[in-house]
Amino acid sequence: MTDYYELLGVSREATQEEIKRAYRRQARRYHPDANPNDTAAEDRFKELNKAYSVLSDPDKRQRYDAFGPDGVEGLVGAGAGDPFMATFEDLVGQFFGAGPFGGGRRARSRSRRGADAGVRVQLDFVEAVFGTKKDVSLRLAGQCDQCGGSGAAPGTEPIVCERCGGTGQQRTVRQSILGQIVTASTCQLCQGTGQEIRSPCSRCRGQGVIAKDSSITVDIAAGVEDGMRERLPGRGHAGQYGGPPGDLWVELAVAPHPVFSRRGDDLLCGIAVPMTVAILGGSVRLETLDGEELTIEVDPGTQPGTVKRFRKKGVPAGDGWGGRRGDLLVELRVEVPVNLSEEERRLIRQLADLRGEASEGTPGGLFARLRGSTR
Ligand SMILES: [Zn+2]
Ligand SMILES: [Zn+2]
Repeated sequence: MTDYYELLGVSREATQEEIKRAYRRQARRYHPDANPNDTAAEDRFKELNKAYSVLSDPDKRQRYDAFGPDGVEGLVGAGAGDPFMATFEDLVGQFFGAGPFGGGRRARSRSRRGADAGVRVQLDFVEAVFGTKKDVSLRLAGQCDQCGGSGAAPGTEPIVCERCGGTGQQRTVRQSILGQIVTASTCQLCQGTGQEIRSPCSRCRGQGVIAKDSSITVDIAAGVEDGMRERLPGRGHAGQYGGPPGDLWVELAVAPHPVFSRRGDDLLCGIAVPMTVAILGGSVRLETLDGEELTIEVDPGTQPGTVKRFRKKGVPAGDGWGGRRGDLLVELRVEVPVNLSEEERRLIRQLADLRGEASEGTPGGLFARLRGSTR
């Protein structure tokens, strides 16, 4: 999948105007009318449209910047520009009057909740099991310092949008055989803010928010797993024109461990057991994830694949150390020795003779015995 910014040939800091210009330039070049019977151009044209539909919408663009294409998949038709959402907001307005950010219809429709942001946090296996704190850096929309978030150049104020009268919505009435159909869409002039900024703030270009490098510390609870997502309310992108901030989604990526793996709250590992120990019995030592030395008793005649369970030596579940803990399951992997010395071979052969299992020199000997045993 091509990066949307690369596709349009603009930088990640490009303004809406630059994005629009780049899109027009590229779209003219790859338009199907200009390239008849050229499927490559047609595909490119479709991709360009997709890229533009995301990058031209500030909410979707923020999601794309934070999460990549995953952040905007399935978002088409949802969110700020969605006519059903707008209708719902209108209803809420009728019941509750003005919104929380100043009086009147204008102020309500102007403020906008910030978009959710996302960040992926890399953890090693031990950090995920026992929990940790992680500092993460990310770029978030924050209030513009120059205009205090209003979007208007210092000394000026936004005015009521003349196209939509401050509602932020454009209504279109259409006649159909089913009667009158009223559709609402976001006002194109004010982008749904209900206000027009005649002299935009030079710093934020009238948006009221600018990208800021932020650093936050995320508390990682014990027992988290790869792919888990945690929502930190109000820690996402700043809202526009006094709107509340969005949420921050933290997605965890846990690196595998060379020795241990997980099944829920249980830790799993395998340990090599020499063949002679498996036969005669004895013990092997294992260092647990906590750094504790564990002595594992091996019974005489232990079979390969035997699993030993150690209670409460697994992943701390729920409230960490004081609370429950999963178990540690150790699989005993009996090792068959290779590269035997002449002396060792002689002894093993002797053992085989004693047990009537000698197969060397009598091809198919053991196989014959197995066959015999099933009769
Ligand atoms: Zn500003
Ligand atoms: Zn408007």
